[in-house]
Amino acid sequence: MSAAKPHKIFVFAPVEDSDSYYGRLEAAGCELVIGKGSWISAEGGTEEELCQNAAGATGFFGATIRPNPISRRVLEIPPDLRIVSKCSIGIDDVDVEAATELGIIVSHCPTEANWGGVAESTMAMILDVLKKSRERDRYVKEGGWRDAALTGTYLGARHDGYAGITIGIIGLGRIGSRLADLLAPWRVRLLACDPYVDYSKFVHHNAERVDLDTLLAQSDVVSLHVTLSPETRHMISTRELVLMKPTALLVNTSRGPAIDEEALIAALLKDQIAGAALDVFEVEPLPLQSPLRGMGDKVLLWSHIVAMNHGSGLGPGLDWATRSLLSALRGEVPDNVYNKAVIPAWLERFGGKNLLG
Ligand code: NAD
Repeated sequence: MSAAKPHKIFVFAPVEDSDSYYGRLEAAGCELVIGKGSWISAEGGTEEELCQNAAGATGFFGATIRPNPISRRVLEIPPDLRIVSKCSIGIDDVDVEAATELGIIVSHCPTEANWGGVAESTMAMILDVLKKSRERDRYVKEGGWRDAALTGTYLGARHDGYAGITIGIIGLGRIGSRLADLLAPWRVRLLACDPYVDYSKFVHHNAERVDLDTLLAQSDVVSLHVTLSPETRHMISTRELVLMKPTALLVNTSRGPAIDEEALIAALLKDQIAGAALDVFEVEPLPLQSPLRGMGDKVLLWSHIVAMNHGSGLGPGLDWATRSLLSALRGEVPDNVYNKAVIPAWLERFGGKNLLG
């Protein structure tokens, strides 16, 4: 049964194929205000536009917006805002600290479709570079055939004594540990650094637990899978790049600001490291004048697109985020709250207060 007065939900980053989820929300008595952003472009409009759309909302719903994130100012506009329900994983486009202070739940959807897709695509990026896929393809299309310069890297350890390469995973969370699992049959030497997970996780995923400096110094491929936080912002900068092998490849499919991009560009120009495979950047879209765009095959550049795979998409996240939003409107805590510290205050304010009748 729907409520007499519709509850305004601001969809800050509309996702294609969300119609059935919108229908579920409308059937529950919600009035949807669709923002002008899109999760494909990751843009949600100006802060001013976000504020206008936010007024009077009890819930925010959507994927990811970056250039104008959901700031404290936007969160402060609607006095009865219960939840920012995101159907994607990252929460760095929401001022989570402000949301917690204001008593608003921020929920996200770490679906296997999303994190599994990121791990698969990270694997693709690593193989693309190490097997010289782009160079081989171009050579043939330009009329060439075999060439010693196109020799790829053999990854795994072999019974003939070849030791294989070493891959270092920074951040052994959902994506980092799935990547470790995907690499397991290849029998590479796996190093991992994550001060916040239990030792057993390293054992389960066949990774040696090391500190960051050891990982950087010993790895042939360094792959970043950390959440973005004040601690991880620029965690790879000049000092860390100097520690890496000159033959090493740096991969980032986590968040751009985890790497100091200026320091990376300098390191690449000086051949301090051999290359970088990047899906994410400090400024997105990557500015046209970025020196990275002119570095040829030394860099493999994607467009924050690793999670976009046929057969996965945001569908499972949309379903989960819809359930979370409806739970919050019923006065129930959803099962995927990111800012768990907010729960006691939230329950005091909204617990058991069912807006859906
Ligand atoms: P997760 O929370 O499961 O894992 C992150 C891990 O990083 C945690 O285990 C945490 O302990 C670890 N960590 C935190 N600080 C660290 C530090 N200083 N050193 C080492 N490890 C540290 O998150 P996840 O789902 O695996 O996602 C990982 C990253 O991938 C996030 O930044 C997320 O936003 C990003 N992501 C990117 C895309 C994309 O499209 N490129 C898609 C989904 C997720």
